[in-house]
Amino acid sequence: MGHMNETPALPAWLDGSPKLLLIDGQPTPARSGRTFETINPTTGKALAQIAEADEKDIDLAVAAARRALDGPWGRFKPFDRQAVLLKLADLVETHFDELALLDTLDMGGPIRSTGAKRTRAIGLLRFYAGLATSIHGSTIDNSQAGEVISYTVKEPVGVVAAINPWNGPLGLAIWKIAPALAAGCTVVLKPAEQAPLSPLRFGELCLEAGIPQGVVNVVTGFAGAGAALAAHPGVDKVAFTGSTEVGQHIIRASAGNIKRVSLELGGKSPNIVFADANLDAAVPGAAMAVFANSGQICSAGTRLFVQRSIHEEFVERLSSFAKTLRVGNPLDPDTQLGPLVSEAQLKRVTSYLDKGREEGARAVAGGTRLQNDELKNGYFVEPTVFDGVKDDMAIAREEIFGPVISVLPFDTAEEAVQRGNDTEYGLGSGVWTRDIGNAHRVARGLRAGSVWVNCYQVMDPAVPFGGYKMSGYGRESGVEHMEEFLQTKAIWIKTD
Ligand code: NAP
Repeated sequence: MGHMNETPALPAWLDGSPKLLLIDGQPTPARSGRTFETINPTTGKALAQIAEADEKDIDLAVAAARRALDGPWGRFKPFDRQAVLLKLADLVETHFDELALLDTLDMGGPIRSTGAKRTRAIGLLRFYAGLATSIHGSTIDNSQAGEVISYTVKEPVGVVAAINPWNGPLGLAIWKIAPALAAGCTVVLKPAEQAPLSPLRFGELCLEAGIPQGVVNVVTGFAGAGAALAAHPGVDKVAFTGSTEVGQHIIRASAGNIKRVSLELGGKSPNIVFADANLDAAVPGAAMAVFANSGQICSAGTRLFVQRSIHEEFVERLSSFAKTLRVGNPLDPDTQLGPLVSEAQLKRVTSYLDKGREEGARAVAGGTRLQNDELKNGYFVEPTVFDGVKDDMAIAREEIFGPVISVLPFDTAEEAVQRGNDTEYGLGSGVWTRDIGNAHRVARGLRAGSVWVNCYQVMDPAVPFGGYKMSGYGRESGVEHMEEFLQTKAIWIKTD
């Protein structure tokens, strides 16, 4: 491994002390006194003790968020919210190397992707800081007798529970919190148990930016803490990212007080390569559409449809490319793929590798856990390309959330669209072709919240992202994301 001498030192923030909940602006131990370990997936060793919230702590956090909403935060004008969000963006920029390092240690994302993550995190904060001052209702002509004026105002939904998975701890926290705060809401954030460090550190920066105490609370813990939040009568809205199964629990839990809910769930996204595509771009594009973040991306293009006339050549080039990827210690700047987040995720992914072979698919690249001397205690899997896959195999139907591509040959565009849509999910999708008419037709035919043409996984704070079908509802990013945190009030004034 090159460059190991450049490995960054551990952040001073990881000083061995237990990391506490952030409730009402105060570092707070769990009422039960319980803690859990967060594990470094590169080494299998504990990084820190983390406070383990249960429903009593959730009660306190929700009450703090409500007080802040009814108190100081409710009095913040749009320009005031904009100012603190911009200050927060500056602070995140200043501290970004530390925040990115915490994520690399906690969930294994390669340190070389820090630059792209920085652009995105700060971009989201500044984009929503801008929108904080553009919230508006409308005046509406009505047909009532006499003079009755009608107009609408947009008001914050209230207390938001933000529940996140592990695969981008900092970015996912900012993705929800920036528009929620811009809209005037307060937040209780429940990060994933596997990667709570950067969200806790981000909570401290929110206070430093001048966001009043209680506006952003961070409660770490397990599924029970998330379930308590989702069911809490003091929560007005749940913004959830995670698995489809837990999304269904959230909908049920929200029924008690008719919470607003938005859901960013799983995917099994089709990525369709036509014979006329620029293969020099399509080969690495299709590979990284899955292998980025070791496959732990919800919109990964895991069902790779390749037109039959180029199938053989494409598989050959794709597997050669996969074999060039450097898998290893994510702190090494040369590393392109780090470990999976946890031992449980390693077991899940390797069980699909076995299942793929049992069902008759052929691993033409990778196919096993990676375990050399240096990596033996970490959760590493080789980037894997399965050929000979059939549409009804488990590896072609179920979300693996690991670096595994299933190649599926096709003949016509109509067939590719039909088979591409033959899934319960509808999150991402891709099309590679130089025929602009074909690109448009296929893009309109795919039932997914995002279609990338001759690229994959491009994201921008201004462009909405979200799911069709069982990939969820609601949109994140863009102006539409603000609407998730606002509600409309109609006001009528009789003037005579
Ligand atoms: P998960 O099991 O659904 O967990 C997500 C979060 O929900 C975690 O904080 C988890 O807490 C919490 N949780 C678990 N059970 C809960 C319950 N009954 N009520 C409330 N909260 C509960 O998902 P994951 O396995 O961590 O993440 C992988 C999944 O997320 C994949 O399916 C992936 O596609 C999806 N994902 C989607 C997007 C998107 O934008 N669409 C982005 C990233 C990931 P614990 O961590 O303590 O279990």
